[in-house]
Amino acid sequence: MSINVLPPGVSGKNFEKALKEYSAIVGPENVHVSSDSLGSYQKIMIPVEASEYAPAGALAPGSVEEVQEILRVCNKYKIAVWPVSTGKNFGYGSASAATKGQMILDLRRMNKIIEVDADLGTALVEPGVTYQQLKNYLVENNIPLWLSCPAPSAIVSPLGNTIDRGVGYTPYGEHFLFSCGMEVVLADSQVLRTGMGSMENSKSWQVFKWGYGPYLDGIFTQSNYGIVTKLGLWLMPQPPAFKPFVVRYPKDTDIEMLVETIRPLRISNIIPNAVVISHALWEGGSYLNRKDYYQGEGAIPDEAVDRMKADNGIGAWNIYAGLYGSPEQNELNWKIVKGAFEATGGLVQEEEEMKGNETFEYRAKLMRGEMTLHEFGLYNWRGGGGSAWFAPVAQAKGDDTLEQMDLGKRILGKYGFDYVAEFIVGWRDMHHIIDLLYDKTDPEETKRANQCFDELLTEFTARGWGSYRTNTAFMDKVADSYGPVKKDINQKIKRALDPNGIIAPGKSGIYN
Ligand SMILES: Cc1cc2nc3c(=O)[nH]c(=O)nc-3n(C[C@H](O)[C@H](O)[C@H](O)COP(=O)(O)OP(=O)(O)OC[C@H]3O[C@@H](n4cnc5c(N)ncnc54)[C@H](O)[C@@H]3O)c2cc1C
Repeated sequence: MSINVLPPGVSGKNFEKALKEYSAIVGPENVHVSSDSLGSYQKIMIPVEASEYAPAGALAPGSVEEVQEILRVCNKYKIAVWPVSTGKNFGYGSASAATKGQMILDLRRMNKIIEVDADLGTALVEPGVTYQQLKNYLVENNIPLWLSCPAPSAIVSPLGNTIDRGVGYTPYGEHFLFSCGMEVVLADSQVLRTGMGSMENSKSWQVFKWGYGPYLDGIFTQSNYGIVTKLGLWLMPQPPAFKPFVVRYPKDTDIEMLVETIRPLRISNIIPNAVVISHALWEGGSYLNRKDYYQGEGAIPDEAVDRMKADNGIGAWNIYAGLYGSPEQNELNWKIVKGAFEATGGLVQEEEEMKGNETFEYRAKLMRGEMTLHEFGLYNWRGGGGSAWFAPVAQAKGDDTLEQMDLGKRILGKYGFDYVAEFIVGWRDMHHIIDLLYDKTDPEETKRANQCFDELLTEFTARGWGSYRTNTAFMDKVADSYGPVKKDINQKIKRALDPNGIIAPGKSGIYN
């Protein structure tokens, strides 16, 4: 095997010995070290030099027992592994680790749907299961349950997305909230089942989240305290009627008023799903080409965005939401919702009117948990394949969102990048998601994108706005923004559970 990168602090001789032991566990065909066979594990969309994050190799176990055996070898040689489920954390670091020389632990071969309970609306899945696979299972078995998936839906993992605390667009869109019970392999190879799953022969692992005593599931999300090998999910019963709609507002500053309109509807669950408020540049960016509107230097000017809006009938802000329930419930709620938006000058458009509109159709699909890859069109907007999600949290209050938009737009503009953004409304919070799109083939632009991301983080942090999630290059900086006590506790738990630091050092800024 031709070795390119050694794990830090491990000699070539010891690494070779470890590779032999890994091969004996998973089979040589599931151990990768040469640059050729590492393929996608080396690709990274965020604005950094990929070689600084190069893996020492990749291992693909097929069972929990193999994961346990791998961790024994890791402890023996002090080699770190970075677990991925389907490894498609695009814009957050893809399948690469937070530091150079880790072994990627690719769990895609562990892809069993262990159980779906159609009556209770629960599922138990392994890391490699994709949303598409789970959807197919439901369709083939005629089970009327809906999934809630992130925009890359078909190709990504419910387990991977949920434990990185990702979001979808149905009423179950806050994914971790709708998970129930985990199986975790700890660094010492013990297997923990959380919640009711700790009991032998438990019958309620996927229905009661809390178990007894301290609730542990949270510490295995966005963390490096264990390798999650099973996850329980709650699935939504298909409602008798579903009514998706879009509401458009013409000006950027309308964000203040429209958030004030949405909040009471959302908190009272009249609109029950994770509403998306998509900016014109996200809306248009997912299917239009930037150079058709602007070919000059710097960020696209407002005048060009206005032309794009007018040509394509899109708003400065485009709200996608849905009503879920019986036809009678939806009819009643529709009167309330439509009335509220129209009273503040929103243009309300229903499904019949939007038939054939690609953007409406992909949003409607996401709001009923169906598969679509339409949003990848964002990468054609500017071209060049570079992307980094900046993801600060705002209160669901008009003034907070307006200030965040102004600040985000100003900093992006300073570095010559467009404000391609959306807000995803939880109940009381908004995930403000900005896609920093840049040309990764241009080293100067890549450097500029890195500096821009850094300034966004600095300035948002200074105003008390924390990020809900970040990419591997900025994990230390985001961890710092949450203060020294949180950092100290994170580290103490790490040292207790993983004294050799073999699981994903650097994840969320946590080292041992
Ligand atoms: C166009 C586009 C749109 C997107 N839209 C959304 C969206 O709507 N919502 C959203 O949430 N994301 C979105 N994303 C980001 C991302 O692609 C998804 O979150 C995706 O689900 C993450 O990839 P994955 O499921 O393969 O998880 P993975 O990459 O496998 O896992 C994510 C991270 O979790 C950790 N991890 C994974 N598995 C384990 C394990 N078994 N044990 C311990 N730790 C583990 C690792 O740190 C890993 O890096 C989008 C990306 C793109 C390109």
